[in-house]
Amino acid sequence: MIEIKQTSQGKALIMSSVSDFCGSMGYCELRIKHYLKGIKPPQTQLTIDGIKSHEKEEIYEKEHFTFEPVTEEGLKDLTKDIEFYREGLFTRFQRELSLGNEKPSILIYGRADKIMRNKGTLIVEDSKYPSSRGKYLVKYEPFDDQKLQTLLYLNSSFSESGSLKENDSFDISCEQRAWIINIKDKFTLESIKIFQGFQTIEAEQFLEAKINRFALIALGMLAPEHHNNAKKCQSCRFIDCEHRLS
Ligand code: SF4
Repeated sequence: MIEIKQTSQGKALIMSSVSDFCGSMGYCELRIKHYLKGIKPPQTQLTIDGIKSHEKEEIYEKEHFTFEPVTEEGLKDLTKDIEFYREGLFTRFQRELSLGNEKPSILIYGRADKIMRNKGTLIVEDSKYPSSRGKYLVKYEPFDDQKLQTLLYLNSSFSESGSLKENDSFDISCEQRAWIINIKDKFTLESIKIFQGFQTIEAEQFLEAKINRFALIALGMLAPEHHNNAKKCQSCRFIDCEHRLS
């Protein structure tokens, strides 16, 4: 869901989950108006299977690995490698924006699959379990929604409780940031393809442009653009969308 609230200073606060943001800015901008109305599309079998695969991985990790508890000093000490349990951290990305005369804030919240720091590099790993391997065989970089998801996590603060209050979250110090998008077989959970890279200036600019555009559309200051791709509409869960191409 996407919500627009007013802060005590009278400014707009745009709130969105990571998945609704990425589904809008990485797939179809028309979705923003559906999310603003609170329309929740039905879950597909792929989503249900994906949740089950995530749960299986979480259980496997808990049964086979033990990670050292992370202390406040450990979060700041770049010489210390740290790793959190799968699905163990919630994320909170908040920014003040400057859109002409408007100065809204944006808060995008989610839950990362895997977060760790290795040799000073903060790493976010996200796993995907597609229905078929085919579409990834000829793909050499991730889809935009997948890139946006990891970039949001990498630039967030974190909490174990999921609280959205700023004071309840913490930062993980790092020298650089890196993302991994691990495409897995949904039955065996083995990797089919791994996309990975460091957060570059281009990636930061890509994220910033998407954030600003999202805010403009959500606030009604810019019209969403149709992708004009019937295949995307055929795979879309918003079955009653008036903009659907058949
Ligand atoms: S049906 Fe098509 S136009 Fe409508 S939200 Fe889905 S992808 Fe966008």
